[in-house]
Amino acid sequence: MEKFVIFGNPVSHSKSPQMQNAGFKNLNYDAIYEKHHLVDGNTIKNTFLENKYEGANITVPHKEYAFKNADEVRGLAQKIQAVNTYINENGKVIAYNTDAPGFLKAIQSFKNVKSVLLLGAGGTAKAIALALQESNIDVTVLNRSEGKLEFFKNEDITSYSWDTFTPKDYDLVVNSTSAGLKDEYLPCDKALLEKIFKTANYAFDCVYGKITPFLKLAQNNGLEIKDGEDMLLYQGVLAFEYFTKQKVDEKVVEAMRDGLKG
Ligand code: NDP
Repeated sequence: MEKFVIFGNPVSHSKSPQMQNAGFKNLNYDAIYEKHHLVDGNTIKNTFLENKYEGANITVPHKEYAFKNADEVRGLAQKIQAVNTYINENGKVIAYNTDAPGFLKAIQSFKNVKSVLLLGAGGTAKAIALALQESNIDVTVLNRSEGKLEFFKNEDITSYSWDTFTPKDYDLVVNSTSAGLKDEYLPCDKALLEKIFKTANYAFDCVYGKITPFLKLAQNNGLEIKDGEDMLLYQGVLAFEYFTKQKVDEKVVEAMRDGLKG
C-alpha cells in the first residue's frame, strides 16, 4: 500500500485526508493518506523520505520550507517560491505548486475575465498573481501594508499598499487576505470596495466554507460570487493526479468533492 500525507502546523483541521482518501477509494487505488503535524519546516524533506511517503501536500506554514528543501522544483512553483505538493521520484523529492492552477480552474465559471484586483500579498496571492499573469490576465495587487509588495514589483506585477492606491475598473475582485477567515473584517475599506464593485462582475474569496463579509458585500452589490471550495478541490485533484500518475475524470473529481464535504 502506498502512503501519502499532509504536513502542516496546525494540521488537525485539514480536510485533505478525507478528500484524497475518497479519490483513492473511487479509483480502487491501494493507498492511505494521513496527517502529519510538522513542527520544524526544515526537517520536511527528511521526514518525507524517512516515512517512505510516495507523495505529500504541504500547508501553512511550511510551503516556503518545502520549496527550499526539494531536490527539484517544477513549473510555475520555481517563480512562486512556495510548493504544496511533493512527489517521491526514485528517492528524489520533486516539488510542484498546484494552488496556482487550482485557482485558475476554480474561476473558469467566470466568463471574460480580463482584469483582476487581488487583495492581499501573502503566499496565496503570489501563486494567484503569477497564475493570472501567465494566463495573460491583467492583475493588480492591493495590500494593507508595503512590506510584501517587493516580490510583485520584481515580477512586473502592478502593486499598491492601501496608502498609494487609486482604483480602476476590474472584472473580478479576489480576496486572498485572511480577513474574514476567523473574524468578520472586510479586507479593505468598505467605501472603496463598494466603488470597485460598481464596475466589477465577479468576486472570489479564497476562504471556504462560509460567506465572508467580503462576499456578502459583493453579493449585495450585484456581483456573482464564489468561495474557495473549488480552489481547495482543484489543487487537491491536481496533486492527486501527480500522486496516481494519471488524469482523472469527473467521477473521481465529484467523489473528492463529496469527500471534502465529509
Ligand atoms: P498569509 O499569512 O501569507 O497572508 C495574509 C495576507 O492577508 C497578507 O497580505 C496580510 O496583509 C493580509 N491580511 C491579514 N489580515 C488582514 C486584515 N484584517 N485586513 C487586510 N488584510 C489582511 O496568508 P496566505 O496567503 O497563506 O492565506 C490567505 C488566505 O487564503 C487564508 O484565508 C487562507 O485560508 C486562504 N487559502 C485558501 C486556499 C484554498 O484552497 N481555498 C489555499 C490557501 C490559502 P499584511 O501584509 O499587511 O500583513
